[in-house]
Amino acid sequence: MDKENWQLEIWGSRGSFPRSEERFLKYGGNTSCVSLTYGGGIVILDAGSGIAGLGRKTAVDGRGSSDVPIRRVDILLSHLHLDHVQGLPAFQPFYDSETEIHLYGSTGFERHLKTLIGPPYWPVGFSDFAAKVFFHELRPGEKFSLNGLTVDTMEGNHPGGSVLYRIDGKSMDGMIKSLVYALDCETDEKTSRRLEKFAEETDLLLWDAGFTKEDLKAGWGHSTWEQGVAVRRAARAEKVVMMHYNAEYEDMFLQRLEETAKKEDGAVIFAREGMKLC
Ligand SMILES: [Zn+2]
Ligand SMILES: [Zn+2]
Repeated sequence: MDKENWQLEIWGSRGSFPRSEERFLKYGGNTSCVSLTYGGGIVILDAGSGIAGLGRKTAVDGRGSSDVPIRRVDILLSHLHLDHVQGLPAFQPFYDSETEIHLYGSTGFERHLKTLIGPPYWPVGFSDFAAKVFFHELRPGEKFSLNGLTVDTMEGNHPGGSVLYRIDGKSMDGMIKSLVYALDCETDEKTSRRLEKFAEETDLLLWDAGFTKEDLKAGWGHSTWEQGVAVRRAARAEKVVMMHYNAEYEDMFLQRLEETAKKEDGAVIFAREGMKLC
């Protein structure tokens, strides 16, 4: 298939806080952000610090995957923890009057974001942005159409709640493609069953591998790579992409985890910033 037709790019693979020291940069220091380009459109999953780099690139290129100028950006937010929204004010398309930006999040997120982004926390706010900004509030479990894609949602098991997303679409040659974005979700028995159904036969399951099973803390709302492998198998998902790495896990440590995980399951991918998947 046409690789440019449906492509995922990792802009932020880190959880909690960005890390800029060299020993973190192979897997990536920026917090959660993934883009999906498809047939001329772009959907962004979360707006951690990684979205700044993506914004710079779209501002410079001004083009999507099919060489069509980007005039519309859709940003799906999992929740409002800082590592998932801190990049928003640095997203350059907000300062372009030709661009339309659609933000999606759970009920109440518009009010919260407008408080967070603006004085006194930040010098500029939504009323200063040149782009046309639209807010779409949703309840987890809702399903909606987005520019030819189908977006399904599921409530994550996370302090304060989170929204997991499933995106299904068709590539230009008619192939069905799908991905599931399941960050910031703790995997207990009940959640596993729901996840297995939600991620059934998806191509890419983007997974919260925030902690090793030794470091995992009940109630913190995160998971392990082993749980991701188990859900992938039960859901018959093609690949599982580990990300949202603990901010203390250095490259050397993550590399050892990756080697161990790949021996366990050849369908495991450890996300690195700049990685492209389709
Ligand atoms: Zn997070
Ligand atoms: Zn969180």
